[in-house]
Amino acid sequence: MRQLHGKPVCGGIAIGRLGFFRSRDRSVARVSVADAAAEHERFAAAHQAAMRQVTELQERARAEIGDKEAAVFEIHQMMLEDDDYLDAIRGVIIEQMCNAEYAVTVTREEFARSFAEMDDPYLQGRAADVRDISDRLLDCLAGRSGELDVGDEPVIVAAKDLTPSETVQMDKRKILAFVTGGGSSNSHTAILARTMGLPAVVDVGDSLDESLDGLPVIVDGFTGAIYVEPDAETTAAMEKRRVEEAARQTMLDSFRGKPNRTRDGKEVMVYANIGSVAEVELVHRYDAGGIGLFRSEFLFLGSSDYPDEDTQFAAYRKVAKEMGGKRSIIRTVDIGADKQIAYFALDAEENPALGLRGLRLCLERPEVFKTQLRALVRASAFGKLAVMFPMVASVWEVAEAKALLETVREELRREDRPFDPDMEVGVMIETPAAAVISDILAREVDFLSLGTNDLTQYTLAVDRQNARLERFCDPHHEAVLRLIRTVVDNAHANNAWVGVCGELAGDTAITETLLRMGVDELSVSPPKVLELRKTIAECTVG
Ligand code: PEP
Ligand code: MG
Repeated sequence: MRQLHGKPVCGGIAIGRLGFFRSRDRSVARVSVADAAAEHERFAAAHQAAMRQVTELQERARAEIGDKEAAVFEIHQMMLEDDDYLDAIRGVIIEQMCNAEYAVTVTREEFARSFAEMDDPYLQGRAADVRDISDRLLDCLAGRSGELDVGDEPVIVAAKDLTPSETVQMDKRKILAFVTGGGSSNSHTAILARTMGLPAVVDVGDSLDESLDGLPVIVDGFTGAIYVEPDAETTAAMEKRRVEEAARQTMLDSFRGKPNRTRDGKEVMVYANIGSVAEVELVHRYDAGGIGLFRSEFLFLGSSDYPDEDTQFAAYRKVAKEMGGKRSIIRTVDIGADKQIAYFALDAEENPALGLRGLRLCLERPEVFKTQLRALVRASAFGKLAVMFPMVASVWEVAEAKALLETVREELRREDRPFDPDMEVGVMIETPAAAVISDILAREVDFLSLGTNDLTQYTLAVDRQNARLERFCDPHHEAVLRLIRTVVDNAHANNAWVGVCGELAGDTAITETLLRMGVDELSVSPPKVLELRKTIAECTVG
């Protein structure tokens, strides 16, 4: 038995086989070849394999999700057969007498760049597809399947690191736990693991490598321990822990249907954070009172092109309907920083966390923003939706967003489409600037929601993604708590209600402090809801 260690980011015990996920992000060296014809043949074989994979994927997508989703693989098939693309690769091999991998990489970048520079947003979106097919060719050249080989049996997914879009594209039903070599507890992969209630350990380091692929392991999401090829004694002890954990869940289940009320009678709202329509089921399963944060960018991350208005409308309408009149706050797309999407074709930035992200990006891409707002406002006719803007620093940004929202309402009125004219509007407080001017912001909207993950990052000047800085990334820091207190007071003085939707909302060590400040709503990952209800019942707020 070997033992590895990392940072625990989501509790739970997982026992199973480890499946090592190879990231699609790969760099390739240029190697000179003596025989260009032989290299051509290698490429032709890889091309055949890639074509077979795409056909299979297309058939699977058609059977499992539908024709619309399968269409993307049809595009991939067409691109893989495109003479210009294939001739470019063959040309590089012959002219430069180099390896096929290098030729594919050069061609990938050249084609992706020219697509990204086109005026038509649809053609811009093809940049991501050309990258995708090129990466598939690289996998085939390397003899890799390029996909997470989970087989029929669920696995413990291990990886050097996982991007949010890789995480979102995995079949969650086949995942027992996440283990990554890098990553921080505030990364979006950690957040996704918490939403799904999957044990997760990050920052394990280089000892987590491909040699572990297929081995039996036990992951302890409470302590961060990973037991490789565990002995009988460890397996028995961890099995016992797993049974105890199940008993604790049963105890927490007794809090279903109970109010979120403190010992001295104060009631608060306990909502859930989710990132996909499928996760609405988790909101019901764990008995949350509403959705405090729907991270709508995951709809975009899971897609190979901009989701159009009707696709988004269908998703938000489903949320509204399935929530049956309970408040569901949709956060407008928060792309940028660690959540990059190829088809947005954003310029590389020196400091992406301080760059074009969240509402800033939406205001710079009004056509993308307007499509989302139209979908949202239309869906508001089917339930109790609210909209909220992320990454705000100035009042004018909110004013501009509200003006666009008003334009959308006018348009829909003219088109005679129904919507809820009273849909609530909120602003996320994620920057120190927004916290300091929260009195002015509160007058513009119905509610404020504290995004403490980013508020901590920006207040303490600590990159939330950097695992080495975790000691410094302290959401309990007095500076953060003072800002939260200011925001709560300013919201209430200006007739707005106020919630917390960052990870701090689920930190039961601080629940009493937040309730004493007067926070009205706490929004947490669904599996945290009942534990938080139990903690609230033990608090006295005076
Ligand atoms: C936050 O920053 O606290 C937040 C809830 O948003 P995200 O984690 O998606 O950046
Ligand atoms: Mg944020």
